[in-house]
Amino acid sequence: MNTCSQCGKQDAMITLTTETEQRSLCRDCYNEVLSIELGVQLIDLPDSIIVKDSEGIRHYFYVRPELFHQGIRLEAGENDFYGYRFEVFGELDCDQQELFQKLYDKVKDGVSRKYINQKVLPGGHTYQTMPDDELVGRIEYNEEDPDVPLVIIDGKPYNWEEIGNMMRSYEGFQFHLHILNEDE
Ligand SMILES: [Zn+2]
Repeated sequence: MNTCSQCGKQDAMITLTTETEQRSLCRDCYNEVLSIELGVQLIDLPDSIIVKDSEGIRHYFYVRPELFHQGIRLEAGENDFYGYRFEVFGELDCDQQELFQKLYDKVKDGVSRKYINQKVLPGGHTYQTMPDDELVGRIEYNEEDPDVPLVIIDGKPYNWEEIGNMMRSYEGFQFHLHILNEDE
């Protein structure tokens, strides 16, 4: 990745093109540029959230604010690409403290429930079940097979073969697959 042309340090994620120049900026520097342009100041928020899941395991989340022309986005994610990730959106003039609270609640809610149970057979073979007959998660790029994405459930990646295996006990049942926007 490129280094940021403003601070020279972080990974540049955003390319800013004006009439006269093209610059690569990191997220922080891009936030600064937009902050001036939009007259909106991002307030200091905690840069991490630590919550326990239903099994008492601690999950560490980074918190990343992002300014857009349309509003503010806050993302909380685990450092593992296939870990849990949540985001919330607010208007440019929203109460950022409230927005953070919304994110915090979403993280807490999100990890408090497990959709997949791991079971081990006497021979050591593991299999998964869906205790609530429901799966909630995220669709993510699959490096090993770009044609078929992975699904991230309970902060862990699953392929469709594994999801299919979990469906075997439901043969003959109906199902409902509904894709949601992050903010729904
Ligand atoms: Zn920078």
